[in-house]
Amino acid sequence: MALSYNEMSREELKQEYAALQSAYEDIKAKGLKLDISRGKPGVDQLNLTNEMLTHCLDGDHISEDGIDCRNYGVLDGIAEAKRLFLQMLGVSEKEIIVGGNSSLQLMYDTVARSMLLGVWDEASPSGRGRPWREAGQVRFLCPCPGYDRHFAICESMGIEMIPVPMNKYGPDMGMIESFVARDDGIKGVWCVPMYSNPEGVTYSDEVVRRFANLNPKSGDFRIFWDNAYAVHHLNDEPDRLLNILDECKKTGKQDMVYIFSSTSKISFPGGGVAMVAASEANIDFLKKQMSFQTIGYDKLNQLRHAKFFKDYDGILEHMKKHREILAPKFKIVLTALETRLKPLGVGEWREPRGGYFVSYNGPDRTAKRTVALCKEAGLVLTDAGATYPYGRDPRDRNIRIAPTYPGTDELSFGMEVFCLCAKLAAAEQLLAE
Ligand code: PMP
Repeated sequence: MALSYNEMSREELKQEYAALQSAYEDIKAKGLKLDISRGKPGVDQLNLTNEMLTHCLDGDHISEDGIDCRNYGVLDGIAEAKRLFLQMLGVSEKEIIVGGNSSLQLMYDTVARSMLLGVWDEASPSGRGRPWREAGQVRFLCPCPGYDRHFAICESMGIEMIPVPMNKYGPDMGMIESFVARDDGIKGVWCVPMYSNPEGVTYSDEVVRRFANLNPKSGDFRIFWDNAYAVHHLNDEPDRLLNILDECKKTGKQDMVYIFSSTSKISFPGGGVAMVAASEANIDFLKKQMSFQTIGYDKLNQLRHAKFFKDYDGILEHMKKHREILAPKFKIVLTALETRLKPLGVGEWREPRGGYFVSYNGPDRTAKRTVALCKEAGLVLTDAGATYPYGRDPRDRNIRIAPTYPGTDELSFGMEVFCLCAKLAAAEQLLAE
């Protein structure tokens, strides 16, 4: 059995480091060019919905309610598109808007409008609360490691971010409860509650209930519940997520949450359909605000999706095909980590049961170096630190691995490079201590 790096004497570690350096020069010479920085579906996954490009509509453009989808109107989406997603998000027809091609855009717009115009406020004569930005410095709670683009939205709008650690059940709820109870500058929290990006954690029932029971000091606080991976299972027994809107209704706080999702990783990223779900009052208010922004989203694409998937079961069946393609890729990543790094005691990770990523935690102060070494060897990863607000990972250890895009051979080689670089960075760090 190999000694772990911590068990090695300094001399042994120096020898190991020299061997790794020479292996690194060899592997660099192989000229890999692979980018696994973003969670993009692979071509074979995109091919699964090619019918949408050919005979899915067959010239049909009339919705079941007789709406001509080629023309303007119907801001909140056609009925069959709404129906397709109701079960996925656990809401009713009046609690959803089916939008355009990007949930990130819906999130950005929702934050921007809240900053500029305020959120729904039952008590206000206009129905509109005070714009967030008029109340002083706005702050968001950011469970991390998390989704870099959520953090980028905040940064772009000058919203201060407060990191909240994640554990295997979800974010540290004690911290969230106490922050929102005492600071009325906190207006939001980012959540990826199912197969979280990047850790693959599904929030436990208790965590969801504690969210629904939050007592924010600020009356216009909102939970941004980004359920991007609601049906992206990698396991026979899918995780189950408690319905946040139902839980919020039980506590009388149904206006506290916005739910987002999209078909970006079900049909086509950039060519899919996104949605926002919320209480009826929130949805009515959002529609009013949105009506200044657009006359209506792309109904032809909504119709195309409704015809292709037919119903929620159709989506679930379709996701099995994605899983068949993705499960072997996740296996490649996990096997590489298990066989190449674990015996040496380098790094930690969890096996995700769904979603798009494997979250790797190297020894402290090695993530940046690992990513740089990979880059030099032709493997592009998400920047180290990207999974934390302001790109600042306090322990410099988290790296998001996105196994979905490359083919299996390329990915296997990519993981060989990754593990070698992770070992080099770890040995280097130990020798420097
Ligand atoms: N939310 C999360 C958590 C994501 O991981 C992603 C895609 N990487 C998105 C949103 C983006 O979704 P969309 O394509 O619908 O804008």
